[in-house]
Order: sequence, then structure tokens, then C-alpha cells
Amino acid sequence: MLAESLYRLGATVAVYEPDPQAPLCQRTRYVTNAAWNDIEALRKFSQQCSRVTYEFENVESEPLQCMEFQLMPSMAVLAVAQHRAREKRFLRENGLPHVAFAEHVPDHPAILKTVRGGYDGKGQMRWTPGETPLSGPLVAEEIIDIEVEASCIVARSKTEEGVFPVFENEHRNHILDTTLVPASLPDEVLAAVQDVARETARKLDVTGLLTTEFFLTRHQPRRSPALQVDDWYLMVNELAPRPHNSGHVTRQACTFSQFDALARILLDVPLGQPRLLPGVWGMGNLLGEVYGTRSKLDLTPWAEHPTVREVCLYGKTQPRAGRKMGHFIVHGESRTAGLAEIAAFRAALTKT
Ligand code: ADP
Ligand code: MG
Repeated sequence: MLAESLYRLGATVAVYEPDPQAPLCQRTRYVTNAAWNDIEALRKFSQQCSRVTYEFENVESEPLQCMEFQLMPSMAVLAVAQHRAREKRFLRENGLPHVAFAEHVPDHPAILKTVRGGYDGKGQMRWTPGETPLSGPLVAEEIIDIEVEASCIVARSKTEEGVFPVFENEHRNHILDTTLVPASLPDEVLAAVQDVARETARKLDVTGLLTTEFFLTRHQPRRSPALQVDDWYLMVNELAPRPHNSGHVTRQACTFSQFDALARILLDVPLGQPRLLPGVWGMGNLLGEVYGTRSKLDLTPWAEHPTVREVCLYGKTQPRAGRKMGHFIVHGESRTAGLAEIAAFRAALTKT
């Protein structure tokens, strides 16, 4: 999706990816298939590129030294965002609202998360004293009674800053299921979420995209330094210095998408302010489950669902349970209509 946005602005795209079966390798001309720590391959790759960005932060940052000057967001940003303890220390040191944490196993129930490598709920557990904890370096977080999860993407170039509208996210089995925009939160809360996201990106000094994930609750957390706005408490959960799954909704919902924003920043094209288009927009993920035993999805039901503005299939060959195979975006008159349409279209795709 980023490549599409780059191509539209006349760029040439080269991809570095260990797996030759990865969709982008099948669709791009300049491909390097090598390991994330293959210093020789990384150096050769960097010599082909004027700018390098990443869509996945779980790579060792040291081997990327050779592309330090092309890397956007910077090595320093990557080093913080790829390590949960560093990320949380950064939030604490900068006085940003966050989920209380310890870097050891506590004496009370907590969410344990490995400091590196976790995504889509992998590398974390809800833990009670007596159970075997995760092994290796970890953070232990206060268990938050979450009412709403939200995310906010800030795009920063050297001279401009754009803030996307706040998305409301629903997870199922710790995997993002649905994103809705506008989020159903009071205006003051939405503004506070955007302010904190902007402040976080500034403090991290991001050039590129920064997605900030938030937990919102109406019960004041016991330990977490949350920001109170009216009767809501908000805190940052985690940071992603790249396009984010929730941001896929911007491909239809906004005047330009998160991918367009990053492409503009990478290519030194003026950024501008993204604006939300009228109506309610919903993004539904398509996981491997939707495929059942099939290897290809039958899109015939789309004909009966004109509110579905986009179906995007990533070209991954093996649909496995929990694997993100694609997404779709609906446009609704209301939140209820949008949610109903997401459920109906997903069900129709699952049946055929
Ligand atoms: P990742 O998205 O990298 O897998 P997250 O830290 O975002 O990891 O956790 C995934 C999901 O697990 C969150 O979106 C939330 O639904 C739930 N979760 C994570 N941390 C907590 C917490 N401290 N309290 C309650 N729920 C949590
Ligand atoms: Mg997350």
C-alpha cells in the first residue's frame, strides 16, 4: 500500500524482505531477500536507496547502522519503539499518560509482555501470582479495565505536521478486528487524544509516521498516570513508528491516506493536513478464518454490498487462522449502520 502511494508520486521502490513469497516481493522489481541481520546485504541495499523506511519494527536496529542517514523514522525512534521497556520509560520520563509498569514480575496480577518481538497479542499473557511467567526480559503492566481503544496517527516532515482523526479500535483475540472513524467519544476527549499523540511524536522527534495506541476507561486506574478529561481517563498503550493497521481506514475516510502521508514525507513533497470525509467509515480486517478451507476468496457478495468502498487483499498465499489476509472499508450513515454492514459483509464472504 505504501508502494502504491510512492509509485503515484513517481518514485522507484526497492524492497528488503527475508521471505521471497512476501506479497511485495512478487510485485516489485528491485528485491533483496536476505536476513534482517545480513550486514553485507543491508549495505548493498542501502546503496540503492536515497531513503529507507520500515513497516515492521521487530528488526534488530544495530545492523541498520549502515543506513542510518537514509532511515526515516530514525534509528533512535526505532530503538525506542521496538523495545517495550524503553518505550514505557520514554513515556514516563516525558510525563506522558501511560499504563503503569514494572520491569520485573510483580506480586499482584498483571499483563506480562516480552520487551521485544510481540505483535497481535503474541508475547503477552494475563498473569496471576502462582502461574509460570513469560521467560526473558519483560514488562508487567497494570490490567486496565478498557472501555474504548483508540489510535491516532501523526505525520511529520522536517517542516510540517499533520494529525489524522482519532480511530476507535475493536480487538478480537488481541488482534485488531474493526476500526471506526469518527470515534464515538466526546469532542474534548478526541482533542486530548490528538494532543497527546502530537506531543508524543514531538518528544520522540519523529520524521515519518507515529501511531500512538490509547486505552480509555471511565474507572480511574489504581496505579497508571492517566490523563483525566471529564469523566474519561486516557493513557498511551504503545507506539508504532510506521503505517498502522487501524490507519488502513484512511485510504477511504480521509482526503489522503497514511500511506500517501508517508510517501510525501519520504519524497520531500508538501504534506498538508489530512481531513475526514463526511459520514462514518469502518474498516474490517479479513483474517485467515474467513477463507475456511479455501485458498482464494470469492468476492461475489460485494455486488450486494454497495457501501463497501474498498476490498484490499494483500496477496498472501497461505490463509492461516489469525493471519491478516486483507481488509475492507465501508461507508455508513451512522455508527450502527457501519458496524452492521461490516458484520454482514464479513459473514457473506465467509459463507460463499
Ligand atoms: P500488540 O498490539 O503489540 O500485540 P498491545 O500491547 O497493543 O500489543 O496489546 C494487544 C491488546 O491486548 C491491546 O490492544 C488490548 O486489547 C490488550 N491489552 C494489552 N495491554 C493491556 C493492559 N495493560 N490491560 C488490559 N488490556 C491490555
Ligand atoms: Mg497494539
